[in-house]
Amino acid sequence: MSSYSIGVDLGGTNLRAAAIGRDGKVLRKISGRTKLSAGREAIVTDMVTEIEKLRDQFGAGDLAGVGIGVPGFILIKEGKIVGSNNLPEFEGYPLSAEVSKRIGTPVILENDANAAALGEKWMGAGRDVDDLVLLTLGTGIGGGIISDGHVLHGYLGMAGEVGHMTVVPTGNPCGCGNHGCLEKHASATAIAAMGRLMGFGDGTTSEDVYKLAKEGNARAKVIFETMGSALGIAIASLVNIFNFPLYLLSGGPLPAWDFFAPAMMAEVQRRSYTFQKAKTRIEKATLGNEAGLFGAAYLPFEDDKARG
Ligand SMILES: [Zn+2]
Repeated sequence: MSSYSIGVDLGGTNLRAAAIGRDGKVLRKISGRTKLSAGREAIVTDMVTEIEKLRDQFGAGDLAGVGIGVPGFILIKEGKIVGSNNLPEFEGYPLSAEVSKRIGTPVILENDANAAALGEKWMGAGRDVDDLVLLTLGTGIGGGIISDGHVLHGYLGMAGEVGHMTVVPTGNPCGCGNHGCLEKHASATAIAAMGRLMGFGDGTTSEDVYKLAKEGNARAKVIFETMGSALGIAIASLVNIFNFPLYLLSGGPLPAWDFFAPAMMAEVQRRSYTFQKAKTRIEKATLGNEAGLFGAAYLPFEDDKARG
C-alpha cells in the first residue's frame, strides 16, 4: 500500500507543498510564493518542481497521488477551475490533467476551503466525527461541508458556499451580486469596515478592532457582538439543515472568540430548535493555515468511489 501523498496549497499569495504520511505525519513541507505576475505557465512549473522535489526524496513507488487545493469552484468531473478571483489566469484551465501529464501521477483538485474542512476532519478538530461544517473567516468567508467523511460537492462542485448565506436581507452589497451575505457582516474584512465606520481610522484592520476590544473599548466590543450575531444566524440555519455534531471556525478573527462567541451562541440557541435539543458543538478549528495542506494530501487516500 502506498505510504504517503503530496498535498499542494495553491493560493493567490503562497504556493506550498507537503509530503504527508498515511498516518498524517508531515514528512517535509516546502513553502514558496505564487508568482502571479510571471503568469500561469510559471506557476504550474513551480508547482511541478515542488512536487517532483518531494517525490524524488520519498520515492515514486510509495506515492499514493497528489491533491491540490485551489481557490475558486472546481468542476470535479473536468478537473477545471472556474470563478477564482485570486487566480484569474486559471479560469477554465484543466489543472489536474496538466500537472498529472507532467509528473505521471494521478492529481485530484479540490476547492481550498473544502480541502481545509477535510484536513480538519482528518487530523484536526474534527477527528472524532464524520460530519462537520468549517467556516473560515478571512477576507471573505469560505466554507466546507464534510458529510459521512467526505466533501459534499453538490452537483457541479459548488456546494458549501456558506459565506454567501443571506443574514441581513437588506444588508451590505456583496461581490456575488447579493446583499447581506454572511461574509459582508462577519469576515475579517467586515470587522475592519465596521471599525472604520466607528471612526477608528482609515487603515483600521480587524486586529486593531480586537486590540481595542481588549482595552475595553465599548464600540469595538459592539462590533464583535454584531459579527457574532451574524455568525450565529448562519450557523443556526446550518444546524437546522444538517443536524451535524460539529461546526468549526478558523481564520484571523479567532483570537477574538471571547468577544464574539457569546452573541453567536445566544443567536444559535434562539434560532435553532435542533441546537436546543441535540448535543451540538461550535468550536475553534485547530490546524489554522495548515488545514488546507492536510486536506489536499488526504484526497488521494480517499475512496475514489466517494468522489463520484
Ligand atoms: Zn455574497
